[in-house]
Amino acid sequence: MDPLKIALVSSEVAPYAKTGGLADVSAALARYLHRKRHDVRLFMPLYRRVRGQVDLEPVAVLQDIPMKMGERTYWYSISTGRLSKGGPLVWFVRCPELFDREGIYTQDQDEHVRFALLSRAALESCQWTQWAPDIVHCNDWHTGLIPLYLRTLYAWDKLFARTRTVLTIHNIGYQGVVGADALKELSLEGERRFLYQEDLNEGRVNFLKTGILYANALTTVSRTYAREIQGDEHGMGLQALLRQRADSLFGIVNGVDYDEWNPRKDALIPEPFHARDLRGKDLNKKALCERFNLPFDARAPLLGVVSRLTVQKGLELLPDILPVLLHKVDLRLVVLGSGDERYENYFRWLSGAFPKKVAFQSGFDNALAHLIEAGSDMFLMPSRYEPCGLNQMYSQRYGSVPIVRRTGGLADTVSPWNAADGTGTGFLFDEFKPEALLGALERALETWRDEGAWARLVQNGMAQDFSWESRVDEYVALYRKLTPPR
Ligand code: ADP
Repeated sequence: MDPLKIALVSSEVAPYAKTGGLADVSAALARYLHRKRHDVRLFMPLYRRVRGQVDLEPVAVLQDIPMKMGERTYWYSISTGRLSKGGPLVWFVRCPELFDREGIYTQDQDEHVRFALLSRAALESCQWTQWAPDIVHCNDWHTGLIPLYLRTLYAWDKLFARTRTVLTIHNIGYQGVVGADALKELSLEGERRFLYQEDLNEGRVNFLKTGILYANALTTVSRTYAREIQGDEHGMGLQALLRQRADSLFGIVNGVDYDEWNPRKDALIPEPFHARDLRGKDLNKKALCERFNLPFDARAPLLGVVSRLTVQKGLELLPDILPVLLHKVDLRLVVLGSGDERYENYFRWLSGAFPKKVAFQSGFDNALAHLIEAGSDMFLMPSRYEPCGLNQMYSQRYGSVPIVRRTGGLADTVSPWNAADGTGTGFLFDEFKPEALLGALERALETWRDEGAWARLVQNGMAQDFSWESRVDEYVALYRKLTPPR
């Protein structure tokens, strides 16, 4: 089959600019599409932090291009750089006035203009180079206006006659809501009839909602989350609209970058290991205990947590059950995370109260995250909601059994241990209540005491395949379904 031309537009791409999973997904998707011989252009802003990270090559026909947005004219240029050796090209949109700032995201007045310009620059770069994309793949609110721009500002251009759009929702909590007075700056003043009228009447424009209205297809990062966001609990106000578009909404679980997360050749852990030889796992556990001055005991299970410390992650289920459990059971708990002070304070207190059992490190530390995966026996993710989640997939590959709430991507990637037939990869609980989490923990601890069962459970997890290879095929199948026959 013919290769596809795909323009991916994203506000974050790892390793250049990352605050979360979006960056990993855009980079991996571009890399694997390129590997499968599709013609990919990945567009992102040239933020200040990108400089020095990559060799840039200016695109000759795309220098000092004016773009009128409301009363203002901005000037932008495009430079390309390789995402990785032999990888696809990233098309960096250089507009110092908008992107040469400290952060990726800002609280500045023109935040909406920054990402509207990214969106339009991606489309106009296609025009200037006469490159007709089959698919423009948008990500989150930042690029949510692209489907509407294609129907309005750029509808005249036959170049886009066959172009179809996909919008991926990585986090529905951020929607890009601005006052309707911004329409002029967004070059949509004359297109009011296309916008969501109720919002306009209330003086607002919602980028993500506009994308949901006009993208040809919508995806989110797990099947369960695709269903959940159509309901009142997780829809963040967009549930009714998502229900209307249910036929065009698909869940595609994120993949894992096994070049980075592979216990067999992980340079960030002291002892590599693999499923047929787990001796290294115990040595990593020992190294993890030593690092935090926790007494090592192979028989005492070690629980790991690596997490942003925010309300999403469900950690407030812990205070009601942990102290009692720690008194009763000889276990270790190592927590790495940063975020809200109240969680940091709690874990700091807990490690002080149980200095031989609990350790907490605040901050972001990738190497330690790898060591925790490698050295822990169980991995805790009691999330309130979780669009996809990555750590539960890493932990399975590292032989650390996930204990998770049955929500979003956690439900799709962890299957319940069944002692009767030896199937399953972890322990799940449903209700967002401490007792429910305690039940899952007790089932895990009981299984831990049965060495044979535990060994089987670990093997089941390590055999799971969460690679991008097959995820990308799901995206390509969707792209092909949308693309009209030639
Ligand atoms: P989310 O995107 O909601 O934070 P995910 O599980 O999808 O959750 O991805 C989190 C990623 O960030 C994982 O790769 C995880 O290892 C990493 N991570 C989160 N917090 C830390 C931390 N404090 N130190 C190192 N890595 C972290």
